[in-house]
Amino acid sequence: MAADPETNSELDVVVIGAGPAGLTAALYLARYRRKVLVLHDGRSRALRIPLTHNAPGFPEGVRGPDLIARMTRHAVQYGAAIQKAEVAAVKALAGGFSLNLTDGPTLVSRAVILATGVDLNQVDLPERVHEAAIRAGVLRYCPICDGYEHFGKRIGVIGCDTNGAAEALFLRGYSQNVTLMPLDRPELSSAEARVLADAGIRLEAGALRALEPGADDVTVRLDTGASLAFDVIYPALGRRPRSILAEQLGLVLTEAGCVTPDAVFESRVAGVFAAGDVVEGLDQISVAMGHGAVAGTRAHNWLREQEQATLQSRT
Ligand SMILES: Cc1cc2nc3c(=O)[nH]c(=O)nc-3n(C[C@H](O)[C@H](O)[C@H](O)COP(=O)(O)OP(=O)(O)OC[C@H]3O[C@@H](n4cnc5c(N)ncnc54)[C@H](O)[C@@H]3O)c2cc1C
Repeated sequence: MAADPETNSELDVVVIGAGPAGLTAALYLARYRRKVLVLHDGRSRALRIPLTHNAPGFPEGVRGPDLIARMTRHAVQYGAAIQKAEVAAVKALAGGFSLNLTDGPTLVSRAVILATGVDLNQVDLPERVHEAAIRAGVLRYCPICDGYEHFGKRIGVIGCDTNGAAEALFLRGYSQNVTLMPLDRPELSSAEARVLADAGIRLEAGALRALEPGADDVTVRLDTGASLAFDVIYPALGRRPRSILAEQLGLVLTEAGCVTPDAVFESRVAGVFAAGDVVEGLDQISVAMGHGAVAGTRAHNWLREQEQATLQSRT
């Protein structure tokens, strides 16, 4: 049942994205005996996870690349095809969708699942240094994922705005030693500053001048001349949903640029579904998997409805 990109006119569903959302959708669709092709540009955020401890079923933790490798093998085992290719554009046609690849042919599919994730707004470090700090676990971007691992540690949060304040308050549940620092300048209201002070969170006013990650800690230098050492730094700088293809298709986006949650079940464009981080909600592996299962099943049932309607029109 493997879908062959060379004979793509037969494709039932193209899933864009090979992260936890897209690979779960592909697994379900392959087991529904659908011809499914997964396209991805190699940038699943899950591939950057050094070791996750909150993926259900992995009590010892699992490395992100290992999880993606297992999920890929699982989907392929049931017939899903997986191809590395960037989708530049997607368009609704009568009875299907065309997908233009950046380097490759135009594919045609009956339905589409968008599982395209988000990009992080990151601190400005050379890529090699940045990724080494992530692997060392001294630079983190997801308090929900790994706040637990930093019980009692010296935690620095970068981003002195409402979002940063919320992350600092969340992390305060794990440590009494939390400091909030601006990237540039503080943007907190006096009410927010008071709530943080009441919670015992230290506020630094100086702009970030340098971030120097080591093997076990990070030194932060501010333009006030202060030099601070932390066990872990959480930049709270927001994210950019990878929703350009959703926009091209005319899906409804939130103010933040995410796809609205209804698109997991049914979007305003018949035959288009969405799953994972690109959908507004909780950006987590387990949520992405759940979305993938729902979107894959909805796509299958939608195709069945189309097939029944075609049969009835012939009788
Ligand atoms: C450092 C780090 C640590 C994390 N730790 C945890 C953790 O411990 N627990 C947890 O639950 N979550 C964690 N997360 C979050 C987790 O990685 C995401 O929630 C999860 O990967 C979302 O899955 P997804 O499938 O929606 O998106 P992603 O995994 O990001 O996959 C998106 C896919 O879309 C593809 N794509 C996008 N646009 C295109 C295009 N135009 N053409 C082709 N392909 C495209 C990408 O190539 C990729 O395959 C962490 C994230 C990071 C960065």
